[in-house]
Amino acid sequence: MIDRDRLVSTFLDLVAIDSPSGSEDAVAAELVRRFQALGWEAHQDAFGNVIARREGTGEPVLLSAHMDTVEPGRGIRPRFDGPDVIRSDGTTILGADDKAGCAVILEVAASLTEDGVPHRPVEVAITRGEEIGLVGARHLDPTAFRARTAIVIDSGGPPSHIQGQAPYHYTYDIEVHGRAAHAGVEPEKGVPAIAIAAEVVTRLPQGRLDPETTANVGRIVGGTVRNAVPDYCRIEGEFRSMDPKRAEELSERVRGAVDEVRARHPDARLEVDVRLEYPGYTLRDDDPAVQLLFPVLRELGFEPEPKPLGGGTDGNILRGFGIASVVIGRGGYAQHTKEEYLVVPEMVDCARVVEAALRRLDSSGDAAPQSS
Ligand SMILES: [Zn+2]
Repeated sequence: MIDRDRLVSTFLDLVAIDSPSGSEDAVAAELVRRFQALGWEAHQDAFGNVIARREGTGEPVLLSAHMDTVEPGRGIRPRFDGPDVIRSDGTTILGADDKAGCAVILEVAASLTEDGVPHRPVEVAITRGEEIGLVGARHLDPTAFRARTAIVIDSGGPPSHIQGQAPYHYTYDIEVHGRAAHAGVEPEKGVPAIAIAAEVVTRLPQGRLDPETTANVGRIVGGTVRNAVPDYCRIEGEFRSMDPKRAEELSERVRGAVDEVRARHPDARLEVDVRLEYPGYTLRDDDPAVQLLFPVLRELGFEPEPKPLGGGTDGNILRGFGIASVVIGRGGYAQHTKEEYLVVPEMVDCARVVEAALRRLDSSGDAAPQSS
């Protein structure tokens, strides 16, 4: 059975181990130790993500969370604010994003193990570097998982808060190679990369383009000194859209902008690289993750509230691997701020939902027998 006190103490233990992105070794070792103490197979993969598993009956389910936190996230001193809320002391984040997700997975593992009830085969992936661009998830080995369905425990709010839609996210780099020359002596011998890049920038999509599409030119790098015609300039941009066709159109628009400017400046060399960072998704009723989780949420009295999200999560990367993922709330609020707090009963509810999903042995709607 899910044990609130044990879950809270696991959460407090994990928060006490600093793990800003890039410095996750100590918490990763502790996670592996805890899974192994429960008798689960557990190790770190080549990138340092924590992988754990336990055999069971029926279709496997992947549980995922991330172990890194944002800054300021060192020396976190959590404290209760009333019986049900945990906050930091105000000088750091709390780290419920996503130590609460890690604690929920450990609590579910402990509960399934001690109850000895039938459950699905469980696979676990707790990633590093989520906060700095889903880096750990990108380094997961997709062949290491049999599960085709995943529950990602990394949303704010109660477990009914589901990330129902996430954008297709593209990034691009445009490089302009010109020719250097002394700006005062013989500028006509130069090919000014910055001026040419400026022509490209004014042709690039920027801002909110429609309700579900945004674009940005975020960074420009170029030139060396004031008195030289610059021979190099790089433009870094991105765009996101819920609509994959719109995203494809924007890829073409970026390439088209470069083609146009290239035609005007035959002496310059322009290169463009547009990349899909992760695929988006829109949850539908026939999605395997929806079919796994929504009936369980309703059975436990929560009405699923799918909401669109502007950013990506490890769930997007897992979807790119062909694993239908749903991201659910684990009780956190004001994430990435020093005001971050955790609502304990919502974290407990999240653990109850995840456990119930694992004890549902088939997707026909028949729940496994419950022990008291
Ligand atoms: Zn997170």
